Amino acid sequence: MHFKRFTKFLKSPTASLAGTYLVIIMAMSIGFSLVFYNTSSNALGRQLPPDSILRQQQYSDDAVTSVVGQAAQTTGHPLDDYFHQRIAEGRSDLLHRLIYLNIGALVVGSLVSYALARRSLQPIEAAMDAQAQFVSDASHELRTPLTAIQTSNEVFLRRPKPTLGDAKSLIQQNSEDITQLKHLTDGLLKLSQESKAGSVKFAPQHVQDIVGDALTQVVPQASLKDITVHDETPDLKILGDHALLTQALVILLDNAVKYSNTGGSVYVSATAKSKYAYLTVRDEGIGIRASDIPHLFRRFYRADNARTGGERAGYGLGLSIAQQIIDNHHGQIDVASTPGKGSSFTLKLPLA
Ligand code: ADP
Repeated sequence: MHFKRFTKFLKSPTASLAGTYLVIIMAMSIGFSLVFYNTSSNALGRQLPPDSILRQQQYSDDAVTSVVGQAAQTTGHPLDDYFHQRIAEGRSDLLHRLIYLNIGALVVGSLVSYALARRSLQPIEAAMDAQAQFVSDASHELRTPLTAIQTSNEVFLRRPKPTLGDAKSLIQQNSEDITQLKHLTDGLLKLSQESKAGSVKFAPQHVQDIVGDALTQVVPQASLKDITVHDETPDLKILGDHALLTQALVILLDNAVKYSNTGGSVYVSATAKSKYAYLTVRDEGIGIRASDIPHLFRRFYRADNARTGGERAGYGLGLSIAQQIIDNHHGQIDVASTPGKGSSFTLKLPLA
């Protein structure tokens, strides 16, 4: 069992990255050790006195030994042997120390490599997990309208004598589900486009132009619910991408209309403070519970208030798209809401 887990670990990306780090650490350590050993051992060799000195020393010693009547019959001089022995000992000592040092480097290097590999891979693993979660959530959301289409088609096909009316209502039902699917795939597409930072074309923009364009898209839907949208924006200039900022504002306005009661009012206003513009969309609709607020910007998150009405059913992608757009503008979105009284979403964006 342990062996199986160990072999599985060895095949993991962490182990292979740690292995690469360790190879680099050990190659450097062994390389340095070899260079150090070579230079030090050469330096030690230089401690040996030159032959001329040893020979000189041997002459005077021979003279002394002939006086005392002893023959000096050594192959090498004792001083020479002594130096050679000391140098050999020094070299062997150095070699041993370097071997211990490299064993130490192997142990410490393994731990350091593992820690480094874990650290390097953690953000990648987190991104991969988030990606997998996103794919699974998206597939789940795509499945619901697809299953509805499949079921209604099967029910129709099982009818012995379907009428023209049955066929018409089936097609109508199918096209509603297809519209839903289209909304969802459009949302997914926008989300993937916005996740690529660098897609923002920064240029000075008049807030009033952005609000005007966003209102053109939202007012028809608002008037269907008899909702009045009040534009109170002053002439401020912000730095950003016109199309993207309009898109973010449409999402906020669309929600304000969607979660307002018939005959209500929605307000768009803006103020400037230090280097930022604060663009606010306020509604007097159903509001959001405090416990839902921290999750609103999560992909596919829908608060309970969204489930109450068919017309309100969305996919919980709008606010995450808006947040991504605002993040790419180095801005911020803030929410304040009181259930039953209404909500306000504020975009903080750099002034031009
Ligand atoms: P959806 O498509 O469901 O509206 P969003 O991401 O735009 O997805 O919003 C996420 C959730 O936040 C919504 O499902 C809704 O519960 C809540 N919400 C967003 N805007 C408002 C608002 N103005 N008033 C009340 N609830 C809101």
